Amino acid sequence: MRIGIIGAGQLGLMLGTAGKPLGLRCRFLDPAAEPPAAAAGTVMRHAFDDDEALRALARESDVITYEFENVSVAALAALSDSVPVYPPPGALEQAQDRLLEKRLFERLGIPLPKYRTVDSQADLEKAVESLGLPLIVKTRRFGYDGKGQLLLRTDDGIAATWRSLGPHPLIAEQYVAFDYEVSAIGVRSPEGLTASYPLTHNAHAGGILRRSRAPVIEPGLDALAGEYLTGLMEALDYVGVLALELFVVGERLLANEFAPRVHNSGHWTIEGAETSQFANHLLAVTGQPPGNTACRGHAGMLNLIGCIPAAARDLHHEDCWLHDYGKAPRAGRKLGHITVVRDSAAERDRMMDELAETVTQSTPADGHPP
Ligand code: AMP
Repeated sequence: MRIGIIGAGQLGLMLGTAGKPLGLRCRFLDPAAEPPAAAAGTVMRHAFDDDEALRALARESDVITYEFENVSVAALAALSDSVPVYPPPGALEQAQDRLLEKRLFERLGIPLPKYRTVDSQADLEKAVESLGLPLIVKTRRFGYDGKGQLLLRTDDGIAATWRSLGPHPLIAEQYVAFDYEVSAIGVRSPEGLTASYPLTHNAHAGGILRRSRAPVIEPGLDALAGEYLTGLMEALDYVGVLALELFVVGERLLANEFAPRVHNSGHWTIEGAETSQFANHLLAVTGQPPGNTACRGHAGMLNLIGCIPAAARDLHHEDCWLHDYGKAPRAGRKLGHITVVRDSAAERDRMMDELAETVTQSTPADGHPP
């Protein structure tokens, strides 16, 4: 089968790579000169909003999917008249707007941080009055990796926060003093068969994911997250892989956001699970039931941000894999990751701390889980 993928970044590269053993041919649409996924399939170099290029991709594909979220929902909906588009454009529409996303969580009974919509400085003042400080103020649309959001700590910062993020429509939400962050990653087939990976523990710094570890061995949380995730996928009549990001507060989970796509926090599944999130996404969008999502051991992933240190290229260990996305170095840019899979959580954690120090030169405390 032929898969048309909008976007040819590292997620596209990993999808294309997973597609080969499944006998799937991936063709990408991306205007970048040397996108990572060029190593895994043909790239049509056109703008994402080029309607003719999108139609050409659809003509060459049996199914269309996407690897990033800033795709036009209207364009996807138009394509879906001629070819299946998965995940459904309606799911992307909800994920693109934090307000729609939060209202969906509320409708489904998924707990979330208290929030207010903010369309003026006066609204922000009211949000501070009713929710208290600190608040996280976020643009409703087009935020990623902590961009488009600010932490508002004091009343004095209200005007500056509004000046910096307004006049875009905003959301102000309570700052959650969470114990740690997790993602629940699941997959759903067109027939409604679902499977989910064990919870992944995520550590961010500066709004960017630094490290993930799985499985989180907390049966109560796993069951609760599974319930929220399945409810969300059912409500969206979802097809493909979906990642739900949650804050852990004691025994409770509060939803932060969901991504209607394969997710950075699921990269460990390439070596650490029986079926990777990339293979599972492709199985789902081609109408096949989900593959086994069980862990192969205790997995950890370290993102390589800004540069790929020479020490990462010198790694020679049978339980440790370097993924280099082939991107030009730039501050704050995700350039690659290292996955570790060990027999025990303690061994995995020890190796991740060692790699963080020797390879990424971050301290073990940098985004280290509690
Ligand atoms: P987001 O773009 O919403 O995924 O936010 C990026 C990161 O900022 C999250 O993974 C958290 O580490 C942090 N963050 C976002 N919202 C909140 C919140 N309401 N309370 C505390 N931390 C937050």
